[in-house]
Amino acid sequence: MTDLTLNLESLLGERLRLDRESRAKHSRDTWVLSELDDLNESEIPLPLAVAEPENAQEVSAILRACRDARVAVVPYGGGSGVCGAIRGPAGALVVSTARMDGLVSIDSHNLVATFRAGTNGMEAERAVQKEGLTIGQWPQSIELSTVGGWVATRAAGQFSTAYGSIEDMLLDLEAVLPNGEILRTRRTPRAAAGPDLRQLFLGSEGTLGIVTEVSFSLRALPACQRGQAFHFADLKDAIDPIRRVLRDGWRPPVVRLYDAPESHRHFHETCPEGRAMLIFLHEGPERLVDVQSEAVAQTCQAAGGTAADASSVDKWLANRNHVPGFRSFLEKGIILDTIEVACLWDQVTPLYERVTSSLREVPGILLASGHSSHSYRSGTNLYFTFVARPDDAGAMADTYRECWKRTIDATLAVGGGISHHHGIGRVRRDALPQEIGQAGIDTLRAIKHALDPENLFNPGALLPPISA
Ligand SMILES: Cc1cc2nc3c(=O)[nH]c(=O)nc-3n(C[C@H](O)[C@H](O)[C@H](O)COP(=O)(O)OP(=O)(O)OC[C@H]3O[C@@H](n4cnc5c(N)ncnc54)[C@H](O)[C@@H]3O)c2cc1C
Repeated sequence: MTDLTLNLESLLGERLRLDRESRAKHSRDTWVLSELDDLNESEIPLPLAVAEPENAQEVSAILRACRDARVAVVPYGGGSGVCGAIRGPAGALVVSTARMDGLVSIDSHNLVATFRAGTNGMEAERAVQKEGLTIGQWPQSIELSTVGGWVATRAAGQFSTAYGSIEDMLLDLEAVLPNGEILRTRRTPRAAAGPDLRQLFLGSEGTLGIVTEVSFSLRALPACQRGQAFHFADLKDAIDPIRRVLRDGWRPPVVRLYDAPESHRHFHETCPEGRAMLIFLHEGPERLVDVQSEAVAQTCQAAGGTAADASSVDKWLANRNHVPGFRSFLEKGIILDTIEVACLWDQVTPLYERVTSSLREVPGILLASGHSSHSYRSGTNLYFTFVARPDDAGAMADTYRECWKRTIDATLAVGGGISHHHGIGRVRRDALPQEIGQAGIDTLRAIKHALDPENLFNPGALLPPISA
């Protein structure tokens, strides 16, 4: 026992976990390279202990104790991050939000719900649905992630095209700063009171403090929901219809376009082989859904799309949160991952072609495919999947890095952004200077230094080391 663990044990009792199993479980997130290291029994640095505070005051006391002892702190939500943001240095203290969960209040008149940061995403959504409301944030990992994690990673849900992403729903938050001070932003629909401090925590990936409470601006559950599907000769033929639908002012919550390999994988009953499937889900009052789906059909058919069975959308809805884990593939010597990036409309086709053709040159590649799942007036995201089986199983990590490097390089080459919603973590960290420029890195470092002068908060995530 160190002085710090003795001190924390007197504060938390059994809520300070020192056993090896808890420390190992909290040493990493769902990043594929950590899964691979786990499988290969390679050393993943173990934290000193896992603290499970129950409120912001306890978090504050923990952070002050860590600052005095100069021990690194790694915040932990659901552990569903996929970029290696959780993989702290040996001997760090993991602060889990697991015991800070549950609905604090719901205000159906003002459409506001407040949750403690460790609330599981699906539980949060169920709590507001009881009142006929929805958060409207449906990440595929809704059952695995926490509301605090959504904020810390700038998460996006499947219904984002109409409802926006986490930054559009977050009304206010409470966070504990590295020095133990508690910061709370004002609950107001908008403010022109200087820079928006919520933005400091959106995407901060545990490097600037611990979010302890969040409030979301809610919406009513829709009266009507309707799916629509069209197939096109090629992915690039279906990009402009999406742009036109959004430019004309329609806002279907779900707009997803799959290339031919992914269309075949997901919709082989309803999409002819070799064609690209475009699905929409409309929500709202029935009259709005009627008029919006009619306009979308006109736009898609005018662009050469063929209407497909709308049961395709029901199938997507039923299976949308099901993802096979990486582990079974890794055990077979197969390395795979998804990489989401974003770009303006006129960059979509060059970006898709550049990334997929570059990935197809990687030795051992079995699949390079992509889809778009979040669209905006000015552009969309592209979400690539690569699957590879290198001849030498020892080359899996190198193959993985090569696929990532090619995707990031091609994205930057066409002017796109390197992360749409999964964040930076460790996998994209060294490309961050290219994404935000040296002045951007200097600004982030200055903010980090002001709040966390000893660099104790999740060191190694988000910001590249000074020497890089
Ligand atoms: C199968 C699968 C599907 C996914 N689908 C989506 C998707 O559709 N959309 C999407 O955006 N993401 C998706 N993700 C990624 C992941 O679920 C999100 O990044 C999610 O927001 C992470 O939340 P979490 O609670 O699990 O955070 P964690 O993984 O525990 O932590 C993520 C980062 O946030 C920090 N952190 C966590 N909680 C706090 C807190 N309270 N205060 C400060 N820092 C904190 C951690 O230190 C870490 O840096 C998916 C992941 C998986 C495995």
